Amino acid sequence: MKINRVILREIRLPLVELFETSFGRTQERRVLLVEIHGGGTVGWGECVAGEGPFYSEETVDTAWLILTQLILPRIVQWSFESPTEFPELCRDIRGHRMAKGCLEAALWDLQAQDLHLPLWKLLGGTREKIACGVSIGIQTSPAALLEKIEQELQDGYQRIKIKVKPGWDVDIVRQVREHFPEIPLMVDANGAYSLEDADHLRQFDDFDLLMIEQPLSYDDLLDHSKLQAQIETAICLDESIRHARDAAHACEVQACKIMNIKMGRLGGPSEARRVHDLCQEQGIPVWCGGMLETGIGRAHNIALSTLENFSLPGDVSAGKRYYKRDTVVPPVEVTADGFIIPPQASGLGYEPDRPWIDELTVRSENFPDSRQSRGL
Ligand SMILES: [Mg+2]
Repeated sequence: MKINRVILREIRLPLVELFETSFGRTQERRVLLVEIHGGGTVGWGECVAGEGPFYSEETVDTAWLILTQLILPRIVQWSFESPTEFPELCRDIRGHRMAKGCLEAALWDLQAQDLHLPLWKLLGGTREKIACGVSIGIQTSPAALLEKIEQELQDGYQRIKIKVKPGWDVDIVRQVREHFPEIPLMVDANGAYSLEDADHLRQFDDFDLLMIEQPLSYDDLLDHSKLQAQIETAICLDESIRHARDAAHACEVQACKIMNIKMGRLGGPSEARRVHDLCQEQGIPVWCGGMLETGIGRAHNIALSTLENFSLPGDVSAGKRYYKRDTVVPPVEVTADGFIIPPQASGLGYEPDRPWIDELTVRSENFPDSRQSRGL
């Protein structure tokens, strides 16, 4: 298939409520969306880079720069048989995985539509329903957190993840466990601790957690392996895994027992699938992480989560938890018992809400012709 036209745009969408992690707060999302036209159809992708370089080095603005200056000019008039050829086209560009990943994701959507297949089937998925968990940001008080958990459980979510940081950790988890002795519970530190905190972190072993996610530095494997040898709770790696080679090294040094897969962090669906397969061979279960995606990114996560080794509930949840009006119709919904059913329609299976997306757009660029910038 040949690519005729690509449109990159930035939209701004307010979150229903502020989301706080160990590295800051988010109230409004700036999101890049890409649409690729080819073969009489349109594929969509969403870049998960944040406003600032806090989760990873990439930001909305670095992704915009790399996409408009380097990647999009290459992709126009490019012909491909499989989206798996895309990483080779950008191999000389180091890093910038979130920028690359949204393009590759859009190519997968495009091809799935061209073949009249649901994207999840094209990816090789087999799961007919996705188990959903939620990620709860740092709250203003323990009481507010308990109330929030109660509400999410009532909505059917199967696993609760709470963000922790020094000063909001062991005592908070103890209170949560006292109130909810049985629920599947985990914590995510987003790299807020160091190996010197091993004794402190060992206290989490008292709470029967599913896992502790990324306790140590965002770029570390070795200290995590030392920590895993000292604590019972399974370590799950998120930020530390940038590609399949990191995943292989993490397995080799036993730095974790579980992995979080985010296609943006890994540079696209191909690499995400590679990490999934490698983990499956190594007996490491995986789950799909979230990046406050709007509906388009969320739909891609649903498709990815149908792969067999996504055996733990992920952070893929209903769009309404994050946005009053999402970028797709119908919005992503969760069943009363906490599942998302992958759609049977071809491609993403959720329709981008174009009039709404147009309204939210603050700048856009068109390739190959009539480059235009709006607003900002
Ligand atoms: Mg995480």
